[in-house]
Amino acid sequence: MTAQIIPRSIAEIEVSRSFLTDILDETEKMGFALSIACFEGLELEAEEAMAEAALVASVRGLVVDFALLHESFHILCGHLSELRESVKIYRESRLGMTRNASGQTPYPTEALLRGYYRELEVDNCALQCMCQLPPRDSAWELLDSIDFGEAVESHTFAGLAGIARVVAFRLVTAATWMAVRLMEVNRDGKIRAQSEDHPLPAARLLACLHTVMEEYAELREQTDQHGQRLHQLTEREATALEQYLEHVLKPALNVFPRVDELTFANKEHLNMLDIAQELRCSWFGGSYSSEAGRQFGQLQSLRNEMEATLKPHRYF
Ligand SMILES: [Zn+2]
Repeated sequence: MTAQIIPRSIAEIEVSRSFLTDILDETEKMGFALSIACFEGLELEAEEAMAEAALVASVRGLVVDFALLHESFHILCGHLSELRESVKIYRESRLGMTRNASGQTPYPTEALLRGYYRELEVDNCALQCMCQLPPRDSAWELLDSIDFGEAVESHTFAGLAGIARVVAFRLVTAATWMAVRLMEVNRDGKIRAQSEDHPLPAARLLACLHTVMEEYAELREQTDQHGQRLHQLTEREATALEQYLEHVLKPALNVFPRVDELTFANKEHLNMLDIAQELRCSWFGGSYSSEAGRQFGQLQSLRNEMEATLKPHRYF
């Protein structure tokens, strides 16, 4: 287990010690891959030792933030209130990714999709906060250790420009990949065993990176009642989306193992390159070629209905 909500008079969020230990171990082990994913091709002047240590510290901080924000948004988005009457223990498995009451159900059922939607909604809210609110000090220590040739003036990742913006979004992308992987590894074994009832880790990663890409390109998505995008991409938006794929995501494609290899066996094996192709398709048209992509598309189409259902429970 990674984290759970304790429903006291004021709800508390408990993060498991083993999850924190995993974050420390994994960021240490992945140090080399992280430095390629964050710095490759940018020819930056940095004190190497400082940059490496600061990079690992930054990614650790962002992974912890992701987990805490994920749980916080289960409360703020009204998921806890919506489920309060039927659920006694607020574990991750009860909030979303589990079988429905009847047990054997065809996949994916409406109820399961609604559960998955809650998970992806809080992942996406967490990532929007990480991009739009000031990050913790470790991220600034990293950025301050690098000579970008111009002053870093924004207090948020979303407000940055130039190479600093690219590095910041590479950091968020790397932290997203690591957080999804660690949260999936730590998911309750019984839930993992029912992999057919579970959103594919790759679908979750796809949805998360979709949000990071949207933040990078400064898109504010508008959808119709079926969850389909309403507006055509402007030239600036299309260019920014391409920039994300080329300059932010690409360095991570070869150094990050496919997410499902490190979690549990799915029938389908997507690597980061497949994820990038599905992301391109989600913005520029075409059909998804993977089960993860199709699941993501189904979840997107639930948006309006879910938002209407959750509206009375929301804190915003
Ligand atoms: Zn959750």
